[in-house]
Amino acid sequence: MRHTARIAGWPKHEYTITHYGIRSLIPNVDLRAGPGCPVCVASPVKIEVAVQMALKGKAIVTTFGDMFRVKGVNYSLMDVKSMGGDVRVVYSIYDSIKIAERNPSREVVHLAIGFETTAPSTASILLKNPPKNFHIISAHLLIPPIMDYLLKLGEIKIDGFICPGHVSTIIGVEPYIPIAVKNKVPMVIVGFEPIDVLLGVAMLIDMINEGRFEVENEYGRAVKFEGNVKAKKIMREVFKISDAYWRGIGRVSSSGLELKDEFERFDALKTFNVAVEEKYDMPPGCRCGDVLRGLIMPEECPLFGKICNPANPVGPCMVSSEGSCAIAYKHIKVFT
Ligand code: SF4
Repeated sequence: MRHTARIAGWPKHEYTITHYGIRSLIPNVDLRAGPGCPVCVASPVKIEVAVQMALKGKAIVTTFGDMFRVKGVNYSLMDVKSMGGDVRVVYSIYDSIKIAERNPSREVVHLAIGFETTAPSTASILLKNPPKNFHIISAHLLIPPIMDYLLKLGEIKIDGFICPGHVSTIIGVEPYIPIAVKNKVPMVIVGFEPIDVLLGVAMLIDMINEGRFEVENEYGRAVKFEGNVKAKKIMREVFKISDAYWRGIGRVSSSGLELKDEFERFDALKTFNVAVEEKYDMPPGCRCGDVLRGLIMPEECPLFGKICNPANPVGPCMVSSEGSCAIAYKHIKVFT
């Protein structure tokens, strides 16, 4: 391998890369993690709406484990639970439906996060006539627009992209092609075993050396060119594409999913009219934004391992097991 390249991947790749010491095997390749941890980039405003609903006793709020600990503006849902709010951690949106069925006199609001991987589950539930007291806050985001945005932003030169295998099982290969061609950046859809990552990087280096800006699929055992046609159809039926705020990055056009008008009765943001100011991003001193945009490695944040650690996370990248800072903390010996 003779090319020095900076290649951006995603959190599940970041775990593999860090856990198996892949950076030390290919020191001439600068591997950076992209903003694909849904908990890290979730809009603080949407979290704050969920916080306020639970705090004011307007609803039972449900969400996934990692979201429980991320702060909105002032509080996390975990903080609110400790203050007496009815917040429940669920393993899937189906558990939230069961909670709504068992509590017909209460409103239930599910904070729905995730990318194209989880959005189909949310959509399929809403197509199955859920209980009237069930609502969602859609914080679903889309991967291809953020890749395009990062390339356009040009804060760091990215020579190639490792595309997320799990998201690609849904969206397929096609959505990446115009972005690769327009930005002249090759892409490879990559699985999550160490051999997948190494092969994906080798495929990218070949394309970089040959001046090809194509999209190749290393993860053919799971990803079809057309993706999951049924899941995409369900998403299209329920959601419309909208601009969305990514924490640490900003507002990115056409990068989020909002409920279509015919499903707005399930939209907690419209049903309950909870207004919060869009004024908060990261805590003072936290450089999660720079980590998420690939500008720095987690260890370069002055708070890393000092006042910020998984037990006392300062920023969202230290909360989720998919956060780059949490991954780095788990694997890198913390200095004094
Ligand atoms: S180490 Fe902590 S404070 Fe620093 S960027 Fe990561 S999460 Fe934010």
